[in-house]
Parts: sequence; structure tokens; C-alpha cells
Amino acid sequence: MNPRLCPICNEPLERYGEIYRCRDCFLFADPRQLMGYGDDYLLHYKLYREKTELSGLIQRARWAFVHQYTPTRRLVLLDYGCGARAFGDANESNLIRVFNYDPYFYRDHGFLKADIDVLTMWDSLEHMSRLDIVPLIGAEWIFLSLPIVDDVEDIFTWKHFVPGEHIWYFSEKALELLFRKWGYRMLIRQDIEAELRSKDVASFCFIKI
Ligand SMILES: [Zn+2]
Repeated sequence: MNPRLCPICNEPLERYGEIYRCRDCFLFADPRQLMGYGDDYLLHYKLYREKTELSGLIQRARWAFVHQYTPTRRLVLLDYGCGARAFGDANESNLIRVFNYDPYFYRDHGFLKADIDVLTMWDSLEHMSRLDIVPLIGAEWIFLSLPIVDDVEDIFTWKHFVPGEHIWYFSEKALELLFRKWGYRMLIRQDIEAELRSKDVASFCFIKI
């Protein structure tokens, strides 16, 4: 992917302060060199997960969301960008087989041989330099949480503006357009984590058309 082109409309991105944007798609991009995700980055999440009740509440809310919009039958789920594997470890269903994958922390390529029914990306899409991996996975259902820029007045002072980590800043419109391009439609936006974390963290379920 050319980082200077909009991943939705393929038009050149325009300069916007220190980053870039596509005005038509309402998307911002920060293609600067990524920081390396060192082991201390993961350690932070491991400690967070072990030490806080909130982490458990977030994982339960995510699982409830997945169960609400998928059928009760055997399903294979890939948690892409799994970090410390908190979500996968909180699986209580015998019917759902979970593959964890994280390019920085847990490279289990076992999912490559599986047919993935459900893809989850909790706080991960905005970190991905290769967005085009998502349609290749080909899941029927995609669930994700991420910060959404719709109500942000100044992106550069926004809590979720994280240079070196976040490459993309999506509006709801941009997300919907991107997934439509990939052959998905938005089934629902349900901000299951907003109250637990930050009002700008939105959650979505997309299904294959
Ligand atoms: Zn665009």
C-alpha cells in the first residue's frame, strides 16, 4: 500500500499540519516511521490486565457483543492484534475456537490454515500499516473497537492522537466506506467500551455482503 494515497478512494492524501488527510472520506493518516513495539509495551498491557478489574469488564463486554451478533454454533475466531491475549483468554464458549495473532507479540500463524468466521480487532485497525490484510482474512463477521474522530475539534490535542502508534484516524463515514470497499456492511455501531474507557472509543460489527 502506498501510504501517500487514501486507502478508500486511492486519491493522494493532502497535507494537514504534521499529518495527512482525505477530506472526501474524512480520514486522517500519519504514515511516519512507526515506533518499535518493545516488550515493555506488551508488559504494560500484561500488568494492566492482571491488576485491573476494568480489563476484565472490557473483555466481557467484547465477548457479549460478539455473542449477540453471531449464531450459536461452532465458529473460528481470529483476534488480530491480540497483544497480551486478554480477549482470547476470556473466552468461555466451547463452541468458539480462538486464534490469537499479533505481529509484534504473538505470531501464531496457525490461523492461516483455518477458515476464519469471525475477526476481532480491538484497538488494532488504527495501528495497521497494511489494512488490506483485513479483506484477505475473509471473515463473515468483523468486530472492532477504535477511536473515532467525528466529534474531535483538534486532532493534534486529542487523547487518541498517538504519533508513532496510530497510523489511521477514522471517522465513522471513513470506516463504513472502507468496509464497503472490502465487501462488508455495517450491521451495528454499539459503543460497548465508551463508558468503560473514553467517549470517543466506538465499537462496530460488520458483516460480509
Ligand atoms: Zn479518500
